[in-house]
Amino acid sequence: MQNDLEKIEKNKKSAIVQTRVISSFKSTLQQVYNKELPLDHIIFLYAAAAGFLMSLFGIGYNIWRGLGVFMLPVFVVYLVLNFAGVMYSVVTKHWYRAALFVVGGSVFFLIPFLWFTIGGVTGSTAPVMLTGGLCIALVFKGRVRTGMLTAQAIMLVAFIALEYHIPDIFIPYSDRTEQYADLAFGMTMSLVVNSVLAYTVMEEYARVRDEKTHLARRLEHLSQTDALTGLYNRRFLSASIDEEMRWAYETGSQLTLCILDIDHFKNINDTYGHEYGDEVLINIAKIMKAGLTEEEIFGRYGGEEFVVLFPGKTPAEALPTVQTLCDQVQTYTWSHGKPVTLSGGLSGYIKGISYSDFLEAADKNLYRAKREGRNRVIYR
Ligand code: GH3
Ligand code: MG
Ligand code: MG
Repeated sequence: MQNDLEKIEKNKKSAIVQTRVISSFKSTLQQVYNKELPLDHIIFLYAAAAGFLMSLFGIGYNIWRGLGVFMLPVFVVYLVLNFAGVMYSVVTKHWYRAALFVVGGSVFFLIPFLWFTIGGVTGSTAPVMLTGGLCIALVFKGRVRTGMLTAQAIMLVAFIALEYHIPDIFIPYSDRTEQYADLAFGMTMSLVVNSVLAYTVMEEYARVRDEKTHLARRLEHLSQTDALTGLYNRRFLSASIDEEMRWAYETGSQLTLCILDIDHFKNINDTYGHEYGDEVLINIAKIMKAGLTEEEIFGRYGGEEFVVLFPGKTPAEALPTVQTLCDQVQTYTWSHGKPVTLSGGLSGYIKGISYSDFLEAADKNLYRAKREGRNRVIYR
C-alpha cells in the first residue's frame, strides 16, 4: 500500500518533469520559428544540430569503412554531450554555458577526431574546421571567443605540422575515388552550413536595420506631433517657421503666419470639465485638418493656441481661409450647446525680419483681437 502510494507520487513527479521539458522544448522551437531568439543563441542551436548530424555521419562512415569499434566511443560521447547540452539549454535557458560544451566539444573534440580519421588537411574535415571557427566567432563573446579562436588556430597549425612530419598518423583513403567522394561531401556540407549561417546573420542584420529605421521614424513622428490632437507640435512648427522664413528670404516670396486662440477656454474647462476641454481641442484639430490643405503648415502651438503658416500668401490672401476656419469652429454642433469662438492674429513676412519679431507681430494682432471683443481676426 505504502509502496503503491510512493510509486504514484514518483510517476506524478516524472510526469511533471516530462511536461516541463516538453513545453520548454516547444517554446524554444516556437521562439526559433518566430525569430525571437538572439542571433548567437540561434547559431548555437544550428551548430548543435550540425554537430549532431556530423557525429551520426561519423558513426556511419566508421561502420561503412569497417574501421572497427575504436572510434565509436568518441562519437557516442559527443552525441551524449551534444544532446545533454541542448536539453540543458532548453530546460534551464542557460544556453551560453551549454554552448561552451556543445560548440567547444565539436571544435576541440569531434572535429579533431574526424580530422585524424578522414584524410587530414586534404580531407573533408578541413572546411568543417573553418566552419567551426565561424561558429565560435558568431556564438561567443569577448575573451571566451578570442581564447577559443586562438586555441583553434594553434590546434590547426599543430595538426598541419603533424601531418607534414608524420603523414602515417592519418588513416589514408583507400583510393582517389573515395578521397574525392569524401571531399565532395565535406565541401558541400560545409558550403550548406556556411550559407545557412551567412543567411541567418544577414536576415538578422536586415531585421535589426529595419527595426531601427522604423523606430527612428516613429521617434521622429512622436517628437513632431502633439499627443492629444495628433497635429504638429510647437517644436515642429518653430522649425517650419524658421525654414519658411529662410525660403521667403531667399526667393522673395510671400509668407503669412497666423496664431489662433480659443476664446474664454478657461470658462469651458471650468464649466464642463477639463476632459470636455480636451474634446474641444480635438474637434478643433479635426476641423483644421479638414479645412486646410497640404499647402498650409499647421499645428498646436501651445495649450489652446494653434498656428497656421501660409507659404506664398500675404495676410490679405490668407484671411478668407482663416475666417472660414473660425466660422466652421463656431458653427460646429458643440455638445455643450454653445458656439466656441476663436480669435486670430496674422503677420506678413517682411524681408529681413527676425523670427521673434515675425511671431510678435502676429501675437500683437491676436492681442488686439481679444481686446476688441474676441471672435475676430486681425490681419494688419
Ligand atoms: P482668452 O479668451 O483670453 O484666451 O481666455 P482663455 O480662458 O482662453 O485664456 P487663458 O489663457 O486664461 O486660459 C487658457 C486655458 O487653457 C487655461 C488652461 O487650463 C487651458 N488649457 C491649456 N492646455 C489645455 C489642455 O491641453 N486641455 C485642456 N482641457 N485645457 C487646457
Ligand atoms: Mg491662450
Ligand atoms: Mg484663449
